[in-house]
Amino acid sequence: MEKREELYSGKAKSVFKTDDPDRYVLAFRNDTSAFDGVKVEQLDRKGMVNNKFNAFIMAKLQAAGIPTHFESLLGDTESVVKRLDMLPIECVVRNYAAGSLVKRLGVTEGQALTPPTFETFLKDDALHDPMINESHIRSFGWATDEQMARMKALTYQVNDVLKAMFLDAGMLLVDYKLEFGVYNDGEIYLGDEFSPDGCRIWDKDTREKLDKDRFRQDLGNVVESYELVGRRLGIDFDA
Ligand code: 5GP
Repeated sequence: MEKREELYSGKAKSVFKTDDPDRYVLAFRNDTSAFDGVKVEQLDRKGMVNNKFNAFIMAKLQAAGIPTHFESLLGDTESVVKRLDMLPIECVVRNYAAGSLVKRLGVTEGQALTPPTFETFLKDDALHDPMINESHIRSFGWATDEQMARMKALTYQVNDVLKAMFLDAGMLLVDYKLEFGVYNDGEIYLGDEFSPDGCRIWDKDTREKLDKDRFRQDLGNVVESYELVGRRLGIDFDA
């Protein structure tokens, strides 16, 4: 497989075409952004850490029967993925209250959510990814009812797998965002990435923040924390 021209450059990742029309190369950069690109920094090693973190998680999800776009690691900062037609919806599951939920509803950070909540946001930087409901998704045709039901079921399935995995390693999976797309077989696959850039992870005992909130809130040791989380899960970043 041959890497070809860049197709798209997002805030932290770039997508390249390949000589296979059904495969892309996903390149994880060191760029780190928050607040819709208002705060941007280069963090040494982050591209490598997130690429390997994502590969590890996607493989675990795949093994649990969740279809993902991940195919293989291509190098330290790049992976081969299936080409998906992405649906413009961010699916968020929350096990504990944090972030925008706390701001929106005035609830206490860290409150356990039982059952976990499921929220959808429109993927639109210019509009700051507004929260949307299933009626909006249906009326505007952002996904069919069947696709939405599948995304919701898969997002909860991911929770079952990852919540237990993080807990076994002494951490709480607080919340996370997933994005999905349609492959050439017409099926929904998990796309984008799963890394500490797009989820919240706290130490189980101290509730220390180990995810991108360290960057958002200027807590320092951002990539060091991502690596610590990964090592606790059994990821070898030197491999
Ligand atoms: P919140 O709605 O509290 O800002 O985010 C909920 C969860 O989804 C957090 O784990 C957050 O990192 C993730 N998330 C939501 N929107 C985005 C996004 O646009 N980019 C990334 N990387 N993560 C997001």
